Amino acid sequence: MDKQTPSSSPLTALFPRDLEGFDLLAELALDLRCSWNHATDDIWRQLDPELWELTHNPWGLLQTVSRDQISTLLADSAYRTQLDELIKKKRESAKTPGWFQKNHPKSALNTVAYFSMEFMLSDALPIYSGGLGNVAGDQLKAANDLGVPVVGVGLLYQQGYFRQLIDNDGSQKAVYPYNDPGQLPVSPLRHANGEWLRIKLDLPGHPIWLRAWQVQVGRTKLYLLDSNDTANYAPFRAITSELYGGSADLRLMQELVLGIGGWRLLEALGIEPEVCHLNEGHAAFAILERARCFMHKTGLPFAAALIATRAGNVFTTHTAVEAGFDRFPPALIEQWLGKYANVELGISTNDLLALGQEAPNHLTDDFNMAYLAVRGSGAVNGVSALHGEVSRRLFAPLFPRWPLNEIPIGHVTNGVHTPSWDSASADELWTKFCGKDRWLGATDHLEKSIRAISNTELWNFRTAASQTFVTYVREHLVRQMAASGAPQTEIEEAQHLFDPKVLTLGFARRFATYKRPNLLLHDPARLLKILTNPERPVQLIMAGKAHPADLAGQALIKQWVQFIRQPQVRQHVIFLSDYDMLLSGHLVAGVDVWLNTPQRPWEASGTSGMKVLVNGAINLSELDGWWAEAYSPDIGWALGDGQEHGNDPAWDAQEAEALYDLLEQEVIPEFYQRDSNGVPVEWTTRMRESMARLTPQFSTNRVVREYTEQRYLPAAEAFKTRSADNGKVAEQIADWQQTIEQQWAGLRVDGITARQEGEQFIFAATVLLNGLAPHDVSVELYANGIDGGDEIRELMECMDVPDDKMGAHLYRLTVPERQTLSEYTLRIIPHREGFSTPLEVNHIVWEH
Ligand SMILES: *Cc1c(COP(=O)(O)O)cnc(C)c1O
Repeated sequence: MDKQTPSSSPLTALFPRDLEGFDLLAELALDLRCSWNHATDDIWRQLDPELWELTHNPWGLLQTVSRDQISTLLADSAYRTQLDELIKKKRESAKTPGWFQKNHPKSALNTVAYFSMEFMLSDALPIYSGGLGNVAGDQLKAANDLGVPVVGVGLLYQQGYFRQLIDNDGSQKAVYPYNDPGQLPVSPLRHANGEWLRIKLDLPGHPIWLRAWQVQVGRTKLYLLDSNDTANYAPFRAITSELYGGSADLRLMQELVLGIGGWRLLEALGIEPEVCHLNEGHAAFAILERARCFMHKTGLPFAAALIATRAGNVFTTHTAVEAGFDRFPPALIEQWLGKYANVELGISTNDLLALGQEAPNHLTDDFNMAYLAVRGSGAVNGVSALHGEVSRRLFAPLFPRWPLNEIPIGHVTNGVHTPSWDSASADELWTKFCGKDRWLGATDHLEKSIRAISNTELWNFRTAASQTFVTYVREHLVRQMAASGAPQTEIEEAQHLFDPKVLTLGFARRFATYKRPNLLLHDPARLLKILTNPERPVQLIMAGKAHPADLAGQALIKQWVQFIRQPQVRQHVIFLSDYDMLLSGHLVAGVDVWLNTPQRPWEASGTSGMKVLVNGAINLSELDGWWAEAYSPDIGWALGDGQEHGNDPAWDAQEAEALYDLLEQEVIPEFYQRDSNGVPVEWTTRMRESMARLTPQFSTNRVVREYTEQRYLPAAEAFKTRSADNGKVAEQIADWQQTIEQQWAGLRVDGITARQEGEQFIFAATVLLNGLAPHDVSVELYANGIDGGDEIRELMECMDVPDDKMGAHLYRLTVPERQTLSEYTLRIIPHREGFSTPLEVNHIVWEH
């Protein structure tokens, strides 16, 4: 049997081998790098200009365009030269050492496996819903640009997320077109003998067979699994049908496929990642399977295997509300994973449940996937500074008695893959000032380079963008209206809506109530007055889906559509249906101001506002998520007071008024105030600052470098240390941890004295360590910071070790007088080099 080296090949039935040169077109089309690298656009446009504009899907184009047309073009020498040149460049760039190879040549990091329920990479591959997939897709692309060795792991959905139709009366309809794998830019993963690579999961009753696919993203690969295998029990074939649809059962099975199946796939491919990045808790079962594989290799029990492997797991949490965590009833976990726990992991079902519950005695709690992710990772982070803070609150129950700011959750603020979101003309402008390779390494020089653009040049660039945008909006709207049966007169009218000279506000995002998409509708008469001011008119473009189960969200769409239907509004507000990546790309390139109105702190990060930066639009947003750390008065506008007001209608009303004021008094006047050349100088100045300062900072270029240097490299080192020699260090840690668990309850502060000597305090304490050694613990003096400053943590020194390990240990410390004496308190925590407290062991003893 020659099954050793799986590789990918396109679905051969659809591949005309007799057409010389077709394989080159296929090689380009199957590489999603062409979704952001505009260099190949011309190749596709020549095949079928109309279809290209409509779909931006090269692989789909190759399936659809007539063979005659393809062979004519391939026979054309200019076309062929262009194609050969692109192929040569593509292959060269795959071999060129990237930022990672240059900056971290001898690191312990060979592979990061990036697990995510969704990836938003291209319109041609609709396996995403929104923000989470956006983060995953954009990070994968930046990993390619920087040469960071990441492989993605996800699911290939037969239907994916729903597509949106909107009725004339504003009702949303969800439809589910079939994702035909033959038309998607994916290739089946095959063994060397041509056999399709399949992964087997032993679920109770029926095994599940999973088919494996590969997506090429430049030099980076994304592996996808789907359950639509004919050998499966028929209902199981639908597991990977819809994204975020179905019941808890189905969701659990999807997560089993992603986490357990995904890790098994890597094993089958011979990939041994040092680091596993869990993009949200959905993927947390990978923790179990990774530990199981380690058990299998080393013969260690589950506890030690988890200690070894968790050091290499990185968890990013994305939700800002408790309800956002994925949870499953314990009975469901027992049903699907009981046997796996008992037989494969060698642990009891209760031990498994405890990994996803608040505390071991909470056996009836739902199983929380984010808790499992925290307990199985060596580093945890939120997606903005504010969200880090919010997450420390959300996860505090896992770390009882620990101060909030020591809950071990940091943050890596999100970014976007700038080359995917810049328009062709923005790309041109940035290339002129910052060079072609501007996103392939560190970006420190970009700020200065962008500042060199003149007001006039910036304004000409924006003026052209507005023109392009209005043309696009009209075309899109006409198609949309015709499809929903609008009267001919209205369709004709649609061809003249909007004006490229008018200030354009954009609002597009998921219609969920906390995002307050209806904030602008708070006072419809005032909004109408703003829009229709004859001297300084405003137009508003909107888009967004509401989850099919979110009726409140759907009602907000209806509210807008009905507002827009009024004849006096129609010229000024357009709602485009079926918000997806393609539409999003046009919106972020075309609007002047991007609005965002969430209730703080529920927008964990938000990314759409980052996409407009490179294109020169300006953000007007609630001080929430990324904007809370990005905002300053000279680069955009802020809404809210930086405080939390929950779901308070009175506060919403106040913010709506503030939003109208801001538009009337600042945004609109600044846009329409022109110098003698017609340039809005203050506006372009603000725009330039936003472009220069924020674009690099909120790019996945910065994000992936940060993850690499602050998370992946330390995680790879830690995993290497713990796993070496069949997990020797992990085994030692497991023994130590067990000792700590056994002895901890008997630990006691026996007495503490303090006296002042001049400007110093001298503390002395006797501590009973209950058989632990002084090097097993840190005895600390702790005081809260003054005026919100950092807390004081001073390590006390063990002065005297008694002969009897059960006896009293004497600790002493002299500290300068900073607080009053009574503000100091003593605490004891477990301590071990290379081991993280409280993430891995959450014990703490306070003096009182
Ligand atoms: C960027 C994007 C999102 C996420 O944007 P938010 O600001 O997080 O709402 C969602 N959907 C699409 C299609 C996008 O392009």
